[in-house]
Amino acid sequence: MSTHKEILAKLPENFDKARESGDLLFFPSSVHTHAENGIEFQIRLCPALQNKPRLPTPDFTKDAPSAQAQEQKRHDPFAPPYVPALHLGEVRDASEGREYVILFNKYSVVPHHFMVVTKDFQSQTSPLLPADLVQVYLFLQAARAVGRKFFAFYNCGDLSGASQPHKHVQLIPIDDDGPPVEKLARAAKIDQEDRPFSLGALPYANHVRRLPSSLSNTSDPDTLEPALADAFLSLLDLAIQTVRHDPTYPAGTPSYNVFLTLEHIHIVPRRQETHTLAGTGEKLSVNALGFAGMLLVKSERELEAVKAEGVTKILKDVALETVHEAQTDAHTVADDHIAGQE
Ligand code: AMP
Repeated sequence: MSTHKEILAKLPENFDKARESGDLLFFPSSVHTHAENGIEFQIRLCPALQNKPRLPTPDFTKDAPSAQAQEQKRHDPFAPPYVPALHLGEVRDASEGREYVILFNKYSVVPHHFMVVTKDFQSQTSPLLPADLVQVYLFLQAARAVGRKFFAFYNCGDLSGASQPHKHVQLIPIDDDGPPVEKLARAAKIDQEDRPFSLGALPYANHVRRLPSSLSNTSDPDTLEPALADAFLSLLDLAIQTVRHDPTYPAGTPSYNVFLTLEHIHIVPRRQETHTLAGTGEKLSVNALGFAGMLLVKSERELEAVKAEGVTKILKDVALETVHEAQTDAHTVADDHIAGQE
């Protein structure tokens, strides 16, 4: 087993080695800012991704013994044997004994992108467990301890933009201000810090919980676990309520995106994986990074189409209508942007 800090400390050297050996493919990109609704969205243009092998859409059906599901299990890239150059170590949760494998993302757009993968197969359609949240949070703390800032995201369910059915939370480095939507959450003035709230500047259902300010300074699982689990479950509850309000929501386990910083957890329920761009007629897949305010495009043409159509319109199309009024029982909206949700 490794410590979180040991793993964080070896990212730069191991990343370079994995790239040199050809086990990790790095796709250069450029970031374009685009302001909308007072938010500085970042659109990452990565033309080389057009050459990334296209993975078949996974069968997320948990226990179905379909031929496709069996085939996928055989080709699960997150199961052993691990590619040594991509394998960064393993961690174990102190309270429940759950084990996790830490792997580099083989197809890296942002250097040092890594994943916290459940050692045993668990489904990407299942919610994050308290132990998952604690381990991911300990990595965010470890990043800070080595002078860096990362954020974590989880694409849950077949409409969430996930491409692998084996449970994995991803972490990428981010500049000091954090993802664009996190900046909005940080600026939010909320009446009750222990209640979910919603960012009114975003035209779709989004659920956010601020974490206790002291939380990022403790590594004690007995303190972290109840705080993170309570925040996550309160948001998941709201996301499910939002889905239930939509009579046309597709049958099956609801899909949603999660992103997590040392300060907040965000959940956005999803109703479809892709948006068809008005300008090109082509499909754009959106995952948690899009909802953090960081869409990914593969061509100049796509970039122009996204800007012309508007990021918030695209996000709205693949998310759900806010049912805030129903959830709050018409509670007071604290200001133009922020509303309590309980
Ligand atoms: P998601 O698409 O959100 O499910 O994330 C899965 C990630 O795993 C993608 O970003 C892929 O680039 C990455 N990936 C796919 N195959 C491998 C592999 N063999 N080893 C490591 N990462 C992989």
